[in-house]
Amino acid sequence: MEVTVRAEVEPRCPTICRLWGTTRCRAGKDEGVRAVTVKPGVANSLSLVEDQPEPAPGEGAVLVQALAVGICGTDHEILDGQYGEAPPGSDRLIIGHESLGRVLEDPSGAFQPGDLVAGIVRHPDPVPCPNCAAGEWDMCRNGQFTEHGIKALPGFARDRWRIEPRFAVRLDPALARVGVLLEPTSVVAKAWDHIERIGHRAEWEPQTVLVTGAGPIGLLAALLATQRGLTVHVLDRATSGPKPELVAALGATYHTVPVNDLPFEPDVVVECTGAPSVVIDVMCKAGQTGIVCLAGVSSGGRTIDFDAGALNRALVLENNVVFGSVNANRRHWSMAAQALSRAEQPWLESLLTRRVQVERYAEAYTPEPDDIKVVLEFGV
Ligand SMILES: [Zn+2]
Ligand SMILES: [Zn+2]
Repeated sequence: MEVTVRAEVEPRCPTICRLWGTTRCRAGKDEGVRAVTVKPGVANSLSLVEDQPEPAPGEGAVLVQALAVGICGTDHEILDGQYGEAPPGSDRLIIGHESLGRVLEDPSGAFQPGDLVAGIVRHPDPVPCPNCAAGEWDMCRNGQFTEHGIKALPGFARDRWRIEPRFAVRLDPALARVGVLLEPTSVVAKAWDHIERIGHRAEWEPQTVLVTGAGPIGLLAALLATQRGLTVHVLDRATSGPKPELVAALGATYHTVPVNDLPFEPDVVVECTGAPSVVIDVMCKAGQTGIVCLAGVSSGGRTIDFDAGALNRALVLENNVVFGSVNANRRHWSMAAQALSRAEQPWLESLLTRRVQVERYAEAYTPEPDDIKVVLEFGV
């Protein structure tokens, strides 16, 4: 009886609402959903919209309370108006594709309330193409796929979101502080999966890996390389800040010299800078039967001089492979969840260099010099 009276006079019940969703709010108050949005194609249109409706049940059976959203270069391209597409019938896009949340309810029974989950970013195209039909939507062949927070699907930067069970990935409960790294880890899990598939075209015993670029993708690529027992070298321009120490903590070697000055020829290169001269240099630097995975995206529009004939000779005469890799499918998300569980938690935490509460969202989207991964947090 006493509890009922207290609930009636309580104007808001944030604890209960945030735990159970507003549909079960015991004070009968609807808090509304806050969402970080942009107008795709319009630079500087970032805004926090309050009192959004609850996510529609049609978005998926699994209702999730957001914990964190990671921010990356794709978000900055969307903020600059270069990229991004609102869902049909809307002129605003809720951004955020690197998610972490806690399940509030799932009538399908696939997930239990309290489960730690992330949402898979890409959904297969509606045709579907042969790869999407096989669940390999990361290899979509017609480009009609959709992506949460990027292309025609609402993102995860909102208090609550919904997703279909088949697009939700369960994480080890111990990963509550760092599980927001699952999406970028899925991208490097896919890169490593394809490197290994290509490697097994012949007898293959790689030993030395070069990762170029020590941002989140490069550091996570290096983590997965060390988990494979390989000798890992990471090259970046930064001579100060957290990067050298993070690389050393993995047991890897940090370099700031030009690629051509490195005293070894790597068996595998994971190129994460997208810088044209680095891309060309690593293709020439890879050793016999070397594999170069290009995971960084160049902005284009700049030209450099290089000897295409020499590059051709290097690739043909050494049986080398250069390939591009983007996105990830469900299998890679599962691999990534395992990789994060096996990693040292303090090391993963130190990649998250800034945590910003959603009320101060603008700060999160303003880059600072020593940022590695900035995370928007939804207070609970
Ligand atoms: Zn991202
Ligand atoms: Zn497709």
